[in-house]
Amino acid sequence: MKKNNKINRRKFVQSATAVAASAAALTSCSTFDSLTRAPSAENNWKIDENDRFDFIVVGSGAGGGPLACGLAKAGYRVLLLEAGGEGTNLISQTPVLHARASEDPLLNWSYFVDRYQDSSVYKSFEKLNSKFQKDNPSVYYPRAAGVGGCTRVNALIHLYPDNEDWNNIGSLTGDASWNAKDMYLRFQKIQTANGGWLTLNQSKELTLGKDQFLIRMAAAAIGVDAWDNTTNFFDKLLKLDVGGLENMINTNPSLKLNPNDQGYVDKKYNGVFNMPFNAVNGIRSGVRELILETRRRLPGNLFVKTDALCTKVLFDPNDKTKAIGVEFIEGAHAYRADVMNKQKASAFMGTPKKAMVKREVILAGGAFNTPQLLMLSGIGAENELQKYNIPMVKNLPGVGLNLQDRYEVTVVSEMNKPISILENCTFAKNNEFDKDPCWQEYLKNPSDHIYGSNGLALSLIRKSSDKQKSPDLCIFGVPGRFTGYYPNYSADTTPKNSNEPSYFTWAILKGHTKNHAGQVKLKSTDPRDTPNINFSYFHDEKNGLTEDLNAVYEGLNVARRINNRIGDGLLKKEIYPGSAISKPNDLKSWIMKEAWGHHASCTSKMGRATDPAAVVDSKFKVHGVQNLRVVDASVYPDIPGLFIMLPTLIVSEKAKDVILADHAGKA
Ligand SMILES: Cc1cc2nc3c(=O)[nH]c(=O)nc-3n(C[C@H](O)[C@H](O)[C@H](O)COP(=O)(O)OP(=O)(O)OC[C@H]3O[C@@H](n4cnc5c(N)ncnc54)[C@H](O)[C@@H]3O)c2cc1C
Repeated sequence: MKKNNKINRRKFVQSATAVAASAAALTSCSTFDSLTRAPSAENNWKIDENDRFDFIVVGSGAGGGPLACGLAKAGYRVLLLEAGGEGTNLISQTPVLHARASEDPLLNWSYFVDRYQDSSVYKSFEKLNSKFQKDNPSVYYPRAAGVGGCTRVNALIHLYPDNEDWNNIGSLTGDASWNAKDMYLRFQKIQTANGGWLTLNQSKELTLGKDQFLIRMAAAAIGVDAWDNTTNFFDKLLKLDVGGLENMINTNPSLKLNPNDQGYVDKKYNGVFNMPFNAVNGIRSGVRELILETRRRLPGNLFVKTDALCTKVLFDPNDKTKAIGVEFIEGAHAYRADVMNKQKASAFMGTPKKAMVKREVILAGGAFNTPQLLMLSGIGAENELQKYNIPMVKNLPGVGLNLQDRYEVTVVSEMNKPISILENCTFAKNNEFDKDPCWQEYLKNPSDHIYGSNGLALSLIRKSSDKQKSPDLCIFGVPGRFTGYYPNYSADTTPKNSNEPSYFTWAILKGHTKNHAGQVKLKSTDPRDTPNINFSYFHDEKNGLTEDLNAVYEGLNVARRINNRIGDGLLKKEIYPGSAISKPNDLKSWIMKEAWGHHASCTSKMGRATDPAAVVDSKFKVHGVQNLRVVDASVYPDIPGLFIMLPTLIVSEKAKDVILADHAGKA
């Protein structure tokens, strides 16, 4: 089997390299990489504690990764510290396997989070919600550690936020440079088409053009509502057979239905879209590849230290508010969210190390780890720090507060027969890639195969009610069975054997949620411990309870209405929530019990110094502390748009511009 794998990969590399020849800058991003997490030679280096880097960036995800590369490209010596590893495997590189990637032990950090402030609430839900563990109110919340952070495993969806998300930051902070026009220019700038690094694709001819069921589903979705961008499209679609849609789109490029086109963004379209995702030649390509490529080209500028868990920011003994470096533990799997951590002796401490900086430390550990690191370093609410005897550097009560997320639910239906284009696919079950006929097909033409996409068939973006100023619902259809996150959820997303039925899922995401009541707090002073995380779901009216709940309810009903229109017995029955749950109040309490999220954010919120809850200013600087910034999904005052990765990549680009301007001309 190994031998076959090699042949296949070689073939793959050859075809990928040929296609990439015209995009020389990305050649190294377009081939499968090493299959294990074995540290690369580049990581086998020691940090000299007497050395002083220009910048140290902690965390290499959507916020930290591009920023570190941008600073290195500008000529600075940058140390990028990453708690996870560098290697990768076929699972995380094959776009369609993203759910499995999110549980890959090489990459997975498993958090268990609370959903309600009153933990007794879960008791009443326990029996109804399979995601609760017995006698434990916490639910699974997967994240990823490794070069690229969560971008290594996520569902690859890149959706531009609402213009008001940027303008509001400008108004809140009084910094006009956050205007929507400039932020859209940054989005354009980071794309490869404009000399940047991010390659976004759309499923060729829409995945749905290749299958009769999917065409019916699309027709039902388009017919369910009046959309702003489908005039004439619906009538034509209804008359199409398989292949017809393909022709139609080939002859009419405006039907690419790209939600990130400026026209759609500016006009806040309620529309039917083909969601962009990040892949080069059918292989996931993004922040990780940018980092590895930048290090390859600029080995004297970008230094990447993996398996390095930062434990604390160090301050100048003569000026305790001035950051001068970081402490970290050297050694793989040191953090207790890391699924491989349990295999280590519990006393594992790694090797404590230091790295020093001339200019600035930039924290980018994500919405859970950045506030944890700030608090461990003495920056946080005074009473919280006192509880753990942590010497205070700066009293910032907002650290870890304002935790936000979207609400997500799904409607899952059993199908009468599998979708034709997936009929023989095993999704490389048990890692038996060679036994998967679809994998073999994928290798022949990766960028034109559903395995080379995230599998999304169609996305609807719309307002949940006329009261909303911009679209606040994203409803997307995907073959498979997804009912939220619980340990080993990914094994249930695809059929386990050929006798198992196939499923179709509508995912409903509520954007611009109003709930600011979530919190991240320390559990202990041990930096290897995860913090206490409580999302305070559906908290109270001040936190948008009814508005958010009604919006999710509306989204769920849209999905059900589409399913009702599909007709012809193509769908056998709804299994989740299940047709027995149909009365409005039953459905609403079901939503409150089941809803989940995966866009944790806003825990180091941006705001003016006069706002006691603000953690960073509009230039990402931690209030009252010198040489310390935060650049990741934790800086938003309000959760932006409908998906968070693309906004965070744009934030990273903005941070680079701001930091370079601040340091221009300074020795
Ligand atoms: C399963 C899943 C699917 C998703 N799908 C999508 C999607 O399709 N579209 C979308 O827009 N968003 C999606 N997201 C969310 C999105 O990927 C994240 O919100 C985004 O990557 C956050 O960026 P970040 O830089 O804040 O943090 P991360 O990307 O999480 O990066 C943080 C990095 O910091 C490292 N780190 C943390 N603490 C330390 C420390 N103390 N020392 C050293 N390193 C540290 C971590 O190992 C990690 O690599 C998904 C997330 C998940 C988990």
